[in-house]
Amino acid sequence: AVAVVGSINVDLVLTVDALPSPGETVLASRSTRLPGGKGANQAVAAARFGATTRLTAAVGDDEGGQWMRQVLSSEGIDTSGVESLSGQDTGLATIAVDARGENQIIVSSGANALLSPDKAALLKSDTKVVLAQQEVPPEAILAAFTVELPAGAIRMLNAAPALTGAANLLDHTDILIVNQHELAEYLGLAQAPANAAEALIAQDLLRFEGQTIIVTLGAGGALAVSSAGHFYAPAVAVSPRDTIGAGDCFCGVLAALLDTGAPLEKAISSANAAAALCTQRQGAVPAMPTRAEVKKFVG
Ligand code: ADP
Repeated sequence: AVAVVGSINVDLVLTVDALPSPGETVLASRSTRLPGGKGANQAVAAARFGATTRLTAAVGDDEGGQWMRQVLSSEGIDTSGVESLSGQDTGLATIAVDARGENQIIVSSGANALLSPDKAALLKSDTKVVLAQQEVPPEAILAAFTVELPAGAIRMLNAAPALTGAANLLDHTDILIVNQHELAEYLGLAQAPANAAEALIAQDLLRFEGQTIIVTLGAGGALAVSSAGHFYAPAVAVSPRDTIGAGDCFCGVLAALLDTGAPLEKAISSANAAAALCTQRQGAVPAMPTRAEVKKFVG
């Protein structure tokens, strides 16, 4: 089974002609509420790909939290590890998008910031993959990564957003997934690596033998590096409509495939295909493909 330890947000998307400047009030032509948070997005991607998926997370005791619990349950995700914290707000992202697609985002972490290490360490004994992202406290992730797991279990960290201060997490991470910009932040590079050849510098982040670092490169696909060598999987060529959620789709699908025992190289290629398909639809959660859809897409 896949255990996701991560965030749950309610995304409030406001469509405006032009983004407001400080002190200005603008009218939105539309407001849409969408399920969000990297933890929720990746859990949905894994579940739609067929994995038995559990989510460890925290929401507030409010309507948004109840709604998200319902959304996740309806995807077949086990939400028994989702805590409702009394007196707290569920995470909220307010996303204003202007006519040119430029956006302005304000995130209130709410209950996500209070996910406790004790709760995060409660993983069931059939857990084969633990998948975390950095929208919850690093202490909680560390607790999930250091609890005793069945032999062969894989700890995957999607280091998004980059939290270079939490670097000791990398000592307990079997597979680290970063995009080009996050890789640049971890390595202190002035410029993000532009392609797979430049991304080979990810080797400098390796902490132990058997560890793998995957760098996602958008339309450039994905590169995996380990002390044994590297593997490059090109992206599936598409005209993207909306790349929101592509990275989350990649991580969730990769986790689902590794849970079935698929070899890493095959899993990365399939995750590329799923993420390319995700860019063909709008939003994050609504855009996550099923395993059958990905199969049909790659033919
Ligand atoms: P993030 O969304 O976290 O910034 P990336 O932009 O690297 O991550 O995208 C994650 C993955 O999504 C890529 O490795 C690739 O598989 C897929 N992807 C993203 N953009 C495109 C694109 N324009 N064409 C095809 N695949 C894409």
